[in-house]
Amino acid sequence: MAAAPETKTVHSPALTYFSMLSLLSLCPPFVILLSANATLSCLLKYSMLLGLGWYTMVHADGSVAQTWNYLKQHGLQGFIDIWPRPTAIAWKIIFVYGAFEAAIQLLLPGKRVEGPISPTGNRPVYKANGMAAYFVTLVTYISLWWFEIFNPTVVYDHLGEIYSALIFGSLIFCVFLYIKGHVAPSSTDSGSSGNFIIDFYWGMELYPRIGKNFDIKVFTNCRFGMMSWAVLAVTYCIKQYELNGKVSDSMLVNTTLMLVYVTKFFWWEAGYWNTMDIAHDRAGFYICWGCLVWVPSVYTSPGMYLVNHPVNLGMQLALYILVAGVLCIYINYDCDRQRQEFRRTNGKCKIWGKAPSKIEATYTTTSGETKTSLLLTSGWWGLARHFHYVPEILAAFFWTVPALFNHFLPYFYVVFLTILLFDRAKRDDDRCRSKYGKYWKLYCNKVPYKIIPGIY
Ligand code: NDP
Repeated sequence: MAAAPETKTVHSPALTYFSMLSLLSLCPPFVILLSANATLSCLLKYSMLLGLGWYTMVHADGSVAQTWNYLKQHGLQGFIDIWPRPTAIAWKIIFVYGAFEAAIQLLLPGKRVEGPISPTGNRPVYKANGMAAYFVTLVTYISLWWFEIFNPTVVYDHLGEIYSALIFGSLIFCVFLYIKGHVAPSSTDSGSSGNFIIDFYWGMELYPRIGKNFDIKVFTNCRFGMMSWAVLAVTYCIKQYELNGKVSDSMLVNTTLMLVYVTKFFWWEAGYWNTMDIAHDRAGFYICWGCLVWVPSVYTSPGMYLVNHPVNLGMQLALYILVAGVLCIYINYDCDRQRQEFRRTNGKCKIWGKAPSKIEATYTTTSGETKTSLLLTSGWWGLARHFHYVPEILAAFFWTVPALFNHFLPYFYVVFLTILLFDRAKRDDDRCRSKYGKYWKLYCNKVPYKIIPGIY
């Protein structure tokens, strides 16, 4: 088997090992702690089963500090007590949802789309049916509720158990990816670093498939992860409606912005197949576990928080936040669109009404071939090298701010995203520097800021 072409790490080996081991050990408990608030709230409201849940949600009111105090007082046993166990209904919900998404991924029609050429010279081919899958999923889910066939509040009421099941199920799935990478890789874009932890954490295959057509990363990242974001956003709205007989304007702003963001994602899904997540990051714990567990739990958490904390913003403030959020989502979309249009037309397009300024960067593939890529140095990409992360972070802030500032918990995603994207900018810069060498240096001279123009 070929050695993994991009298993070289960006940070020092000690830091890489430390961050990998921290993520592997800390992420699962954190997801549970976060979801415990919502989960325990359900248990409190409907069955009063856990005294601890009652403590966290009623006395601690979603407060991290009080949950922390509880843990300090009760130690490990207290943590074990609030850990929701995976239940049969949780597994059933995950299985039905996953099977439905897998089936429509395979069956819905879509245009044939080619991804970027991989380091070993392969070009993956996809069926672009993301928008259709998104539409079918939401219409099916809302219809099931409307016609009283399935009540989405069941999902909310079993959220902790679902996350718990997802944590374990996804770990097993990552083991499957690891074994598949060793025994049955789908293409030559696969390889081992010779180290079990690195292979498991960063993944072995770039484009793993089941059969010829079922793309695993499209399933984990898009159809399971991103789709669950929209499904859960709708679920939180319905739950708040069920609890209060109405949906607060704060929840409406939050849900609308999250849905606009996810709709944008599926509208642009074929573009996503050209990004780092798909074209550079291999299918392992880092990306797949993140999309299967972290996206449904952490990314949706501002909406989860609002279920029990309805805030009345008033029409004017709600509209200001909504417009600001939509604007940020649009700018983020336009940055991605600009880069992709520029690459698609080989630089023969207009950027902000003018011919683009560019750098022709040559590089050598792992097979020794010399190729050329165009780097855009005007438009959004002339402001900073990763300016698109600014509107991404601001959009997340705007769908969180309806929760106001009583607690830190709903802002966890914004903070996490900021750290993730600042680290990603560094990872991408380092990768591009080693790919393009002097041409990347030229780009850095022309566009000196990494993310925030004039500041960083
Ligand atoms: P992209 O992969 O879209 O862009 C970076 C790549 O583009 C580089 O690796 C390089 O690839 C190429 N490139 C870099 N500079 C230029 C240039 N000047 N002109 C042309 N091409 C260039 O970045 P991301 O995957 O990080 O982001 C994609 C989207 O996903 C963004 O909207 C981002 O905000 C969002 N995102 C959201 C996250 C979340 O958790 N919510 C996490 C990460 C991203 P090449 O090798 O082809 O030259």
